[in-house]
Amino acid sequence: MEYINLIFPLNIGQLTYKCPEHLREKLKLGVIINAPLKNRIIKGVFSEFAKETTLEDIKTIYDIFTPEPVLSPNMLNLLKWSSDYYFAEQGIILKHILPKEFFNPVKTNKKEPYKNNRISLKVEDLLSIKQDNLQLVLDMIEKKTFRTFLLHAPSLIYEYSFLLNLIRPLKNIIILAPDVNTIEFIYPLLKSIFGERLAAYHGKMSKGCRSNIIKKIISGEHDIIIGTRSVVFSPMKTVSLLVVLQEHSQLYKQESHPYYNARDVAVKRGFFENATVLLSSISPSTESIYNCKKGKYTLINQTKDTKHIKIKLTNLSTELLIKPNLSKSILESAKIHMKKGDNIFFILNRKGYSTTLQCIECNNIIICPTCKIPLVYYKNEKILRCNYCGHVVSKIPEVCPICKGFKLKFTGGGTQRLQEDIETLLNIKTIRIDKECLKKKREIERFKSIMFSEDIRFIIGTKLIINELP
Ligand SMILES: [Zn+2]
Ligand SMILES: [Zn+2]
Repeated sequence: MEYINLIFPLNIGQLTYKCPEHLREKLKLGVIINAPLKNRIIKGVFSEFAKETTLEDIKTIYDIFTPEPVLSPNMLNLLKWSSDYYFAEQGIILKHILPKEFFNPVKTNKKEPYKNNRISLKVEDLLSIKQDNLQLVLDMIEKKTFRTFLLHAPSLIYEYSFLLNLIRPLKNIIILAPDVNTIEFIYPLLKSIFGERLAAYHGKMSKGCRSNIIKKIISGEHDIIIGTRSVVFSPMKTVSLLVVLQEHSQLYKQESHPYYNARDVAVKRGFFENATVLLSSISPSTESIYNCKKGKYTLINQTKDTKHIKIKLTNLSTELLIKPNLSKSILESAKIHMKKGDNIFFILNRKGYSTTLQCIECNNIIICPTCKIPLVYYKNEKILRCNYCGHVVSKIPEVCPICKGFKLKFTGGGTQRLQEDIETLLNIKTIRIDKECLKKKREIERFKSIMFSEDIRFIIGTKLIINELP
């Protein structure tokens, strides 16, 4: 009797079944099979032949649903690797490759027009790219050799121009973008070049639309896909090039189970598919630069002739701190720029006034009872709050719950504290932009109108400043 393993799009690993005599001839790796599971017939992917088993009562598969394989052997390898590497059941990874809409197709009657009201990239915007840089990558693609390139681009437009010049003559491409905005920015131009061969795929699309796209990717009608992180698992039969735009972006890391990083999966997929991988960025990640230095990736550095922004790193643990987060040298350079009439941003990744309330006798830190992380002090509201679950302590403790000591001290500064310190030390007016004050759309508009006006040259806030404001 032949035993086979199936992976179902469920939170379980692969399961072993018997394959009856009459189906054995038709069995190919990667086909979809109907099999009984918990009194139902459900669809799974045939992933490998199983070894002889001593298990009893093994069930028999029902039939073969798709005569031709849906997943290539390379995809099955990627699935198994991702499952091992990211500690996720194979079924969970399968759900990323073939979403629910594939197993239970959702019908769409009308073709969804691709809504796009944003400004998009135009042919006139594109820069000319030196052929020898492109040739380096094209040669590898032609040889069908796995190689990862890191393009350090001098500007975003250069990054997109490189991509468009590179992919024009190619087939079977997966392009990863960090967010939907980026996709919408370059999609119209890609569409004008590739027409029906191109598909965009991301979470903001309807299920019916995604269901159609998956079908067309498997049939080969769409051979150029642009999408957010999950398209790295797109079930394309062969891939010649994987592109990761703005490869430094944190958005490639999925913050829920399975915790994969799409950039790293792209490199691994390139390895399994013997494909070329192009990571590009105007500010490449440390990991990728390191991989170039180690010889794992090939660096294409195009920033040599461009002006660089001056970056100075200050180690706050060795500098003289005047207030939390404010060292002497930081304040001095702020003063210099203030005299010149420059605008200044202070970005700090901590909200609130003090980030910890600590007992100076036993070092105990007051933490959230649920999340076990330090509670943050908000001065205006006079409360302690957990920035993770929102738990609020409205009466600030005066006694340490561990040693019963009375010496509790606020330490570590958040944006509220930073604003207060800067205003007193430099005697200026500032505005603060963080989640606390950006809850209303109107508030954002108000900020935009007073930003960098005559008397406000300082903006203090969390990384929201970069995301929310122009
Ligand atoms: Zn204590
Ligand atoms: Zn909490």
